[in-house]
Amino acid sequence: MARVALVTGGTRGIGEAISIALKNAGYKVAATYAGNDEKANAFKDQHGIAVFKWDVGDPQSCADGIAKVEAEVGPVDVLVNNAGITRDGMFHKATFEQWREVMSTNLDSMFTMTRPVIDGMRERGFGRIINITSINGQKGQMGQANYSAAKAGVIGFTKALAQENAKKGVTVNAIAPGYIATEMVMAVPEKVRESIIATIPVGRLGESDEIAEAVVYLASEKAGFVTGSTLTIKAASTSPE
Ligand code: NDP
Repeated sequence: MARVALVTGGTRGIGEAISIALKNAGYKVAATYAGNDEKANAFKDQHGIAVFKWDVGDPQSCADGIAKVEAEVGPVDVLVNNAGITRDGMFHKATFEQWREVMSTNLDSMFTMTRPVIDGMRERGFGRIINITSINGQKGQMGQANYSAAKAGVIGFTKALAQENAKKGVTVNAIAPGYIATEMVMAVPEKVRESIIATIPVGRLGESDEIAEAVVYLASEKAGFVTGSTLTIKAASTSPE
């Protein structure tokens, strides 16, 4: 029987590539999104992947949404916590509202999405939880104190949860992408983007597919000995971090 994979923010950007790669690897996939109905419906029609709309930062919406996914698609074997947002700006100009938005989508979602699926994974003796963090959660990034804090939190969550569930056949890992060509990065002013690309030794942004293939590996049966890891996917670095 095909395993079920649930990908948050799975209709666009890196999440879209993850959903498609998991489908191609034989999983039954459910993809969530926040509000872009047009993109989600086009994605659903093109790829035949079920889509569900809710806010990953809201505990009740997640509990209700996951119950719907489990009823319509099946019990979740693989959870990819991918949904994320940025609200960039220097910290001395930041508002608490921006801080909360970033924490809600990037970090609260680790609780709200994982808590409803963890019991089932433990009971069935198999589960794969893959959390998408960022190199900026590892090294810190000017203008992203909120995002860097949330993404660093994702790594701590991953390591702790991995230890708690290691004996139950449930692995928990994180992937820390470098800069990937999605709308999130294309929204950065062109001059800034070019200066970022200039620091990447291969001279280009990463592609979403390059992240998706790593997710397929971590989701697989064969990755059972990999847990509590953070896989950084970037093309070397000229900086010392
Ligand atoms: P995009 O902005 O391209 O896509 C974000 C996806 O997340 C969309 O599907 C969006 O839904 C969904 N989403 C956003 N907020 C919520 C929410 N509150 N509830 C549910 N879904 C939500 O992002 P990327 O593909 O660039 O990023 C994906 C992940 O990778 C993020 O966690 C990001 O932090 C991380 N990352 C990205 C990097 C990059 O260079 N792009 C680098 C390092 C990490 P909708 O379409 O409805 O808006």
